[in-house]
Amino acid sequence: MFDGLSRSLEKAWDSVRRDGKLTAENVKEPMREIRRALLEADVSLPVVRRFVKKVEEAALGERVVKGLSPDQKLVKVVYEELKTLMGGQQAELVQPKYGPSVILMAGLQGTGKTTAAGKLALHLKKKGLKVLLVATDVYRPAAIDQLVTLGSRIEVPVFELGTDVKPPEIARQGLEKAKQEEYDAVIVDTAGRLQIDERLMEELRETKAAVNPTDTLLVVDAMTGQEAAGLVKAFNDAVDITGAVLTKMDGDSRGGAALSIKEVSGRPIKFVGTGEKMEALEPFYPERMASRILGMGDVVSLVEKAEDAIQAEEAAELTKKMMTAKFDFNDFLKQYKTVTGMGNLSTLVKMLPGMNKVNEKQLAEVERKYKTYESMIQSMTKQEREQPELLAKNPSRRRRIARGSGRTEEQVAELIGMFTSMRAQMQTLSRMMALSGGAQGMA
Ligand code: GDP
Ligand code: MG
Repeated sequence: MFDGLSRSLEKAWDSVRRDGKLTAENVKEPMREIRRALLEADVSLPVVRRFVKKVEEAALGERVVKGLSPDQKLVKVVYEELKTLMGGQQAELVQPKYGPSVILMAGLQGTGKTTAAGKLALHLKKKGLKVLLVATDVYRPAAIDQLVTLGSRIEVPVFELGTDVKPPEIARQGLEKAKQEEYDAVIVDTAGRLQIDERLMEELRETKAAVNPTDTLLVVDAMTGQEAAGLVKAFNDAVDITGAVLTKMDGDSRGGAALSIKEVSGRPIKFVGTGEKMEALEPFYPERMASRILGMGDVVSLVEKAEDAIQAEEAAELTKKMMTAKFDFNDFLKQYKTVTGMGNLSTLVKMLPGMNKVNEKQLAEVERKYKTYESMIQSMTKQEREQPELLAKNPSRRRRIARGSGRTEEQVAELIGMFTSMRAQMQTLSRMMALSGGAQGMA
């Protein structure tokens, strides 16, 4: 998949490498290659156009990271944009506020809905959830049997009422049973058609209305190619999907659908199917997919390391400053921005293993507090920011800052107290380290 991309880019980088920096001229050739490779991979044309434009803008605006050649930098830009195009972060299933999760599977016939329903059931069961499958494909008796067989293989019960009851009614009764018997998740398999038609959409809408699902997942066959964009749009317009499952990623598809889904619907791919077995389901990770597409994982991680090093350099400089009396409110703001530079603090920490919801709440609190600090510092004069001492003994300055930032005088006093004690602690620490001869190690 996307084999052409890394190979053709390899050639195109040459001009960029020669010039030593990214210019409007020398990014043209690589951009042409990227465009060609994406079209070859069956990404839809409007998506390709928007993508190329974004990459160009980002590449030319990008500040040059020390120690990196421009071509490496361009790889990173393409990588970041690919990742963003696919939703940026891994998307989870929607958590219900109360009652069971209800997942409605939608999609054309043969895309792998029934298989994906079974896989998802196993996936949730392994997480310790009590799962119920519901069979509403009443048009082919074999379809119900297929789900029943899958269900017994993974030991998940299947609710069915034969072929004489209408799909929305089966779904409704299935959900009723799930509520009564305290299931954690209900997965509703639906009928598909060979192509989009109004009857199918109407039935889907009715089934959706009957169970009010937490997730409506569109199952898309990775082989779909160019038509994926139109298909996703039609389903999303009709039933407002919450995400997609991209199936048959193990095949020799060109994979373009992966890039169109989020862009067209605003909804992320949540899972990918990678085989016929029930275990062959994986959460979809935009960053992994982007690396795979580029086939240049090593370059990407190299660029990331270089950027980390730069951040570390800046952080070390701040640390040094913190240990002297020179640390002022400007440095304080800068330090705060470094911490939150990668998005907000809670998203950052959420990516770390073992962080739970309680911590998230505390983090949100910290973040909120920093926001109030920031607003107060912004209401200070240049002189006040550089000489925090001015504020310690001057109530009228504090009053002015409180008024300017819409905070109370107590809040201003709290900021000053926090700042002063933080600086004092840092200085004590630095004296201790100087005594033990460890100061260099820190910087
Ligand atoms: P439905 O009509 O949408 O319910 O599609 P099915 O679930 O019945 O799947 C249609 C065919 O695709 C079956 O032969 C499945 O085994 C196969 N299939 C489904 N998902 C995958 C997948 O991820 N990889 C491969 N190789 N085959 C799949
Ligand atoms: Mg089916």
